[in-house]
Amino acid sequence: MRRDVSELTNKLDIEKISSLLSIPEHNITGALKRKTLQYVHGKQELFRFDKPVSSVEGGTALFLEPFKAIRGFPKISRTLMLYPALLKHFSSCRKVAVEEKMNGYNVRVALIGDKVVALTRGGFICPYTTEKVNYLLRRDFFHDHPDLVLCGEMVGPDSPYVPKTFYNIESLDFFTFDVRKINSGAPMSVMERRKLMDEYGIRSVHLYGEFEVGKAHEAITDIIKSFGNTLREGVVIKDPEMILPPVKYTSSLSNCADLKYAFEFYNDFGRDFFFGRVCREAFQSVEWDENEESITKRCRELGESILLPMISTIKKKKAGERIAENVQLRVKNLKTIAEFEDYLRLLGVDAVFGHPEKIGDEYLVRIRKIHQSTNDKTETILGGQMWS
Ligand code: ATP
Ligand code: MG
Repeated sequence: MRRDVSELTNKLDIEKISSLLSIPEHNITGALKRKTLQYVHGKQELFRFDKPVSSVEGGTALFLEPFKAIRGFPKISRTLMLYPALLKHFSSCRKVAVEEKMNGYNVRVALIGDKVVALTRGGFICPYTTEKVNYLLRRDFFHDHPDLVLCGEMVGPDSPYVPKTFYNIESLDFFTFDVRKINSGAPMSVMERRKLMDEYGIRSVHLYGEFEVGKAHEAITDIIKSFGNTLREGVVIKDPEMILPPVKYTSSLSNCADLKYAFEFYNDFGRDFFFGRVCREAFQSVEWDENEESITKRCRELGESILLPMISTIKKKKAGERIAENVQLRVKNLKTIAEFEDYLRLLGVDAVFGHPEKIGDEYLVRIRKIHQSTNDKTETILGGQMWS
């Protein structure tokens, strides 16, 4: 039964939360008032931080029974000019660890009571991801380490958020890139974390190696260039001890792939995706000291990534089609589909679910995510409306 939210909020032990998260009590009461700290209805009762509050990251989830916090996954800064940025950022390190940046969606997994749950970036429990991790990850890890949170990327074609086929993953798989303490969010060092994952047969993102800070830019440039046409996203460069925060660096091809996606649904995502990605291309071109031919190729690819998908969207709309993104899920329990439908409704995502198809001991469900703003804008402009 749904409990009264204000009653529940009144019962929150502010002092206890304040000491658990090491932030002043008035920050918590203020966040509750502003609804930055909000109740999320579901099988497990939790409050989530919608945005950062003092030193607490946005996406932090606070469970009441048992009383535990899973800290939001910290933002990772991006370098545009590798050499000077690495020297500056990692000046106190001798070496950096370079790991593959996989392109999927961020998930934090932990044991809450007797349940292994998976949280997405915003601090919601995703029922679909939760089913997947319960089949993918060995339970004894969480029983041996109930105070640890696995942070990783969910990657593969059966993804409701970021479907990718180029990793040759059959359905969806979990790759760990961080192991953090529950409540404090303190990270484990890179090698200790990778060894721990190996012990439990849990996959980690690929490690390219450790490189001297002054030489890492050369190794990373080679890595990125070696991706060729594979669409691999990039790398995350880390202090092996995880004292300094990591930084990310990505390839032009994956940059263009993001733009293609964003401009297919241009009025929903185009603006947010545009400026930063154009800047990345310009700085990479200069750092790589490109000749005229390479610059021309880069310009063409960038332009095509923006205009071609948008032109195709407009043509589709003109032909009377509804602009939608097709994704698919594969589940073992049909109940998960019903729960996932509720979950998308909670997030305000407009989606049309197809009928489940039985494949072996699983069900495949196709979903059309409707990007309404792009549909509306295109239709009105085609009908003669002014842009503004
Ligand atoms: P951010 O808020 O961190 O900038 P974003 O949504 O813009 O996030 P990305 O550009 O995808 O995300 O970069 C950060 C994300 O990369 C992380 O949140 C994580 O999900 C993902 N990631 C993939 N591989 C790794 C890795 N090896 N180490 C750390 N993060 C990784
Ligand atoms: Mg990502």
